[in-house]
This record gives sequence, C-alpha cells and structure tokens, in this order.
Amino acid sequence: MDPAPAPPPPFAVHLVTGGGPSPELALLLRSLAAARVVALDAEWKPRRRGSPAAAGTGDGASPATAPPQFPTVTLLQVACRGGDGGEGERERERCEVFVVDLLAVPLADLWAPLRELFERPDVLKLGFRFKQDLVYLSATFAAALGSDAGFDRVEPFLDVTNVYYYLKGHDRQKKLPKETKSLATICEELLNVSLSKELQCSDWSCRPLSDGQIQYAASDAYYLLDIFDLFQQKFTTEGKCSSTMELNSDRHGSPTVIECSSSGYDICSGGYLMSIVTKYSEKILLTDSDIKPRSSIRKEISKLPTNAKCKDRVDCSTEWQGPPPWDPSIGGDGYPKFLCDVMIEGLAKHLRCVGIDAAIPSSKKPEPRELLNQTYKEGRILLTRDVKLLKYQYLASSQVYRVKSLLKHDQLAEVIDTFQLKISEDQLMSRCTKCNGSFIQKPLTLEEAVEASKGFQVIPSCLFNRNLEFWKCTDCNQLYWEGTQYHNAVQKFLSVCNISD
Ligand SMILES: [Zn+2]
Repeated sequence: MDPAPAPPPPFAVHLVTGGGPSPELALLLRSLAAARVVALDAEWKPRRRGSPAAAGTGDGASPATAPPQFPTVTLLQVACRGGDGGEGERERERCEVFVVDLLAVPLADLWAPLRELFERPDVLKLGFRFKQDLVYLSATFAAALGSDAGFDRVEPFLDVTNVYYYLKGHDRQKKLPKETKSLATICEELLNVSLSKELQCSDWSCRPLSDGQIQYAASDAYYLLDIFDLFQQKFTTEGKCSSTMELNSDRHGSPTVIECSSSGYDICSGGYLMSIVTKYSEKILLTDSDIKPRSSIRKEISKLPTNAKCKDRVDCSTEWQGPPPWDPSIGGDGYPKFLCDVMIEGLAKHLRCVGIDAAIPSSKKPEPRELLNQTYKEGRILLTRDVKLLKYQYLASSQVYRVKSLLKHDQLAEVIDTFQLKISEDQLMSRCTKCNGSFIQKPLTLEEAVEASKGFQVIPSCLFNRNLEFWKCTDCNQLYWEGTQYHNAVQKFLSVCNISD
C-alpha cells in the first residue's frame, strides 16, 4: 500500500554525500558559518524487537567499531536560517536545508564545524527532543574518530515542544504538561502540515536513500524553522502591541479565524533573536552517564518496540476476530458504527471526518458497564485504549477493540485497516464532527445560512462574497462551509486514508 503522494515541500534539499572538495559540503559549511538559527535532527537505523544491539545487526551497513550500546546515526539534517539580518532586513525567506549522509561524508570533515555550531553563543539551535540525538551522534563520532571526538553540549538551544506550549498559551511559570506531543502532531496543529509517518522508522542505514526518505528527513528539520517563525511572530507581536495570535487549534470546527486574521507581522531582527535566546533558550549538556551507557539505560531502551524515536508507532498485529455487528452475514446493515472511549475522543472526530459513525460515551466519566451497554444496545464496536475493558467477558470479544496507536492519524489508519473500512472521497466531511449527526442533503444559500446561524454561530463577514456552500447538521444545527480548513482537512484525510484523487 503506497501512501498518496505528498505535495512537494516548500524548500530545496541539498544532499551532502561527499567530503573535502564536495560543493555541497562547502555550501553546508558556509551556511553554518552565516546562520543565526539552525534546526537539527538526526536519524538512525531503527532497533528491531529482540535485537538488543542496534549496530551491527548483520547487514554489514553499520561499522563494526561502533559501540554496541547506541545506534549509529546515519543521517544528520540541518536547516539554516539566514545571516545576521540587520534592522529591517528580511532574511526569513533565506533557508537552506541539508541532509548529510554520515555514512558517506568523512566524519573528520564534520566534527570541528559541528562542535563549533553546537557551542556558538550567537547561533540558536532548534530541535525536537534533541538530547537523545546528541547522545547517539556523539557516540557515532567518538566511535569513528576516537573518544575525544564526541559532543557534550548544545547551547543556546530551544526545544520545539516548549515553543509549542508557549504558542498554545501555556504559562511559562508552570510545569509543562506530562503528555508528550510528537513532532508530527505539533506540525499538524501549528502549521497544518502533515508529516508522513510511514518513513519515520524506515531503515536509515540503507543506501541509496529513497527520494521519500530524503524529503521526510529534510522536512523534520525544515518545519522546526517554520514553527520558530510562528514563535518569533508571536514574540514580536506581543512585544509591540500585546495582541494575541489566533492559532489553528480547532481544525474541524467551523470558525475560520485564521483566514480573517491579519498577516502583517514584523519578522524579528537580530535584536529580537537575542532576547528570545536570553528569555527562552536552554542548553543540552551531556554528562558522563549520558555518554557511557549504563545497564539501566540499555534496559530502558530495549523495552521499546523499535527505537525511542519511533515510540509512537507500535506493532499493529491485531487480535481482532470479527465479524463486526454490522456485518450483513450476521444480520447487520453494513454500516460500521463505533463508540470511542473517553481517552480517544479525538479518534471519534477523525472517524466522523471520513464519514464513519463514531459516537462518544453519553456521560463524561462512564463506568465500564455503561460503555459496554451502549456498545451492545447500539450495535457498535467499542474502541478503547483501556486494557481493563477487555476483561469484561460477558461482552463478546468481537465488540471491543483495543486501539494500539497513540496518535489520532495512526489510530484512524489502524481502525480503517483492522475493520477493512471502505472510505471514499465523497464520504469525507459528510458527518458533523461535533455531534456525529448527519447533514441536511441540500446545501444552504448564504441567506439561509445567516438565518440559521442567528444567536448561535457567527459567520465571519470575510466569507460573504466568496460564493460558498453551507451545510447544517440536522442534530445540533452546527453550520459548516467549504473554507480553507475544510479543504485542508479533505487533503489530509485523502492522504491518511490512501485515497488518490
Ligand atoms: Zn452536529
């Protein structure tokens, strides 16, 4: 099953595969020297279940000298944002993205420039949980060049997870929430960009890399810069007029604040950058215990299904036995129906977006018995992440399914795959994401929509001259229209569900 082809990314990628005289390497070094903000990411060969040593799994691709404890980093992604950018100068557009093949470029050519980059006080480094990358990167360089050739710090550093919470309005004085967001989720929420997850756990030690792998790897670094741009915008806007910025937090709801908000912001100059660094940056320091793997670290890592970066992805082998209650062979009407447990209500919205009937529990904190009753009465399948629910034997096992994936997109793909759901393009957005109701069949005119929205919902005036069609949910009266968010959502689900246009 090939995923639908992703649209081409908005940046060009330099693949660096040569040492010494290679022009790409020269460009990389020049860009690093001139950059003020550099986004970093690294890839390594995923660890398979039951193979404790990541390096040297017998395919000959990993150097035999690598310490067996840490995976060998095979790819380093670097996205550089422009030069100094004095007052008024707009450097935002200038961005170079490099995918550096660490299996091809002599590490000796890279070590000194990288160490300088990591430690330069006037260059802000961006990453997503980069400490682990740094540990592996350091081990990879030390294995090749000698124990002194590792890296022990990255400073100043800004983690995109913190940027995310800042943009979401989280109080900086308070502790960050425990839930961990994946980079894909962050990109989707902040940028409305879907990063393909298919390739995340692909074999990064195989050569040649596919175009898809190169693009995927480059995206991981590039979008960190995009997220930083949002952060800068908010930082500068708040610094100037303390107005807040609307973020695209409710993707499936109808308000289209994004479309209406002004885009006239100032891109920050070097001065702003330094105040961001002072106010928000941190440092990554590797101690001896980080660099020399202890058995406890090893244990922790080997517990994970693949490598830690892939922890969102899980073994999707299913215990589902079927047939589902809607199966015509046992008297069903052929229409899949689910009940999503409270922990996975987000999945319910996603299922509705692709036209599947997905209810949520009738009470906020349902007892297991209530959940199972509703499931049984309405002929649904209960989707849950709660293992405890599986032990209720009085309900046939073919009415409870434990969802294994952690992220909504993956959960959606998992459910579609497990229950062999047929999703077609005209089913997309055919159901109210708010209440699971269905839409009236005939679209409303603008006048009818304005009438229907009275005292209930505000239709932004910027939509008035755009000749849009409106639909109303027959159950909760929510209005929907084909705005930008609608089209983005359709595009997203086309690719998640592997529907090609
Ligand atoms: Zn509704």
